[in-house]
Amino acid sequence: MEKKADNDRIEKYDVIIVGAGAAGLMCAASPAWEQAKPAIGDGEVSRLILERGDRPGIKLLMSGGGHCNITHDGPARDLLPAYGKAGRTLRGAIIKYSNKDSEAFLKRAGVPLYSDAAGRVLPVSMKAADVLDAYLEAAGRNGFRVRYGQMVRSIEERGSDEEREYLLDTGSKTYLCKTVIIATGGCSYPKTGSDGAMFGTLERCFGLEVTSLMPGLVPVITEEYPYGDLAGITLQHVRISIHRDGEKSVHREGALLFTHCAFSGPCALDISGYAASGSRIAIDYIHPVTFDEAYAKIREKRIRSGKEVAEAFSLPRRLAALLAERAADSPKRLAHLLTEDTFTVTGTEGFKSAMVTKGGVGLQQIVPSSMELKDRPGVYLIGEVLDADGASGGYNLQMCWSTAQAAANAVVSHLHP
Ligand SMILES: Cc1cc2nc3c(=O)[nH]c(=O)nc-3n(C[C@H](O)[C@H](O)[C@H](O)COP(=O)(O)OP(=O)(O)OC[C@H]3O[C@@H](n4cnc5c(N)ncnc54)[C@H](O)[C@@H]3O)c2cc1C
Repeated sequence: MEKKADNDRIEKYDVIIVGAGAAGLMCAASPAWEQAKPAIGDGEVSRLILERGDRPGIKLLMSGGGHCNITHDGPARDLLPAYGKAGRTLRGAIIKYSNKDSEAFLKRAGVPLYSDAAGRVLPVSMKAADVLDAYLEAAGRNGFRVRYGQMVRSIEERGSDEEREYLLDTGSKTYLCKTVIIATGGCSYPKTGSDGAMFGTLERCFGLEVTSLMPGLVPVITEEYPYGDLAGITLQHVRISIHRDGEKSVHREGALLFTHCAFSGPCALDISGYAASGSRIAIDYIHPVTFDEAYAKIREKRIRSGKEVAEAFSLPRRLAALLAERAADSPKRLAHLLTEDTFTVTGTEGFKSAMVTKGGVGLQQIVPSSMELKDRPGVYLIGEVLDADGASGGYNLQMCWSTAQAAANAVVSHLHP
């Protein structure tokens, strides 16, 4: 206790960002800092990132299967529906620092990008490491250092309204700063460092309301899963529907990936938020061909074998062979399997393999133009720690870039008016 009371042992900074993930690094890399000189003279750094792990951007490196789908193409306002209700609150931040700004930032940093047919924007090199390096380099130029092995366990407010400061305790060290930016992510892939512990800290230290946390964009598990041997095969365009008694059906279209035990790929991930245990999931492998059209074709051309199914409906041979086997020479059953292969959902793979967290710090507590907490001036929240998540396709990283930039702009204008 005596040690903590010793002010000399407390390290002081103007700004501390907690978390060296996509949002934290973008905030540190923001061009906004170029307008602000380091507040402490003689080259001394007054800006710090505290990271609990021993490396930065682990989840960023995993994103897009290591290729990093940095954002989504198209007019910025067209991105908003992908965030559901949160899109309305984050509208200003996403329009102000849009997908075009994220692209321009990386291109300026020497990372050329391209958009694929589905609108996903990726580095030409297909290397997430190039994206990470660009943000790390810009953060360094802006005077930020990253200190590893520092897990923030408590945040305490000090001082008066005029001179408010925040004391951050990591167990081994104590830090004091005027501005703290929380970029600690959600609970998904906890092994990457974002295990959700910060939600408890924010509830305890600031009394913040955290909405219920659920895995999002996660593979869907069904009672019977006949496709374990097809692990790794992707169908570029399927239609998946989810039905639940008494509720409206939900449909999504896109790519489907078979894993050894679950349905994955963008289409299954996007529908996973509705995949409650007991609901029925129906996969249409040949959309937009209808059941009647498929049935007529099967009868007319006497389609039976896997090879015939593969050729007639342009499906991978191994999937076609399995469907033909399951149809057991029944043309009607084959048409059903092709257009509505139906399974009972038992659940999802959970946080351990979810791409995002649904839920987080309630947006009503945040000033949407700056990401500052309404009743704690100097505290900002950005990225996945917020109750905001998007569809697959680059929307989640864009949310990180946009909220990070909003906070950087606001902090710079407060600290260096
Ligand atoms: C497999 C996978 C693939 C994905 N692919 C894409 C994609 O292609 N496109 C896309 O848009 N999105 C993708 N996402 C989602 C996207 O990666 C995340 O939304 C994004 O990385 C979240 O960034 P963040 O900075 O908010 O949190 P994180 O990236 O989770 O970073 C949080 C950081 O804070 C640190 N931290 C946590 N608690 C503390 C603490 N108490 N003290 C100090 N440090 C702490 C963590 O160690 C971590 O480094 C993918 C996610 C996964 C898991």
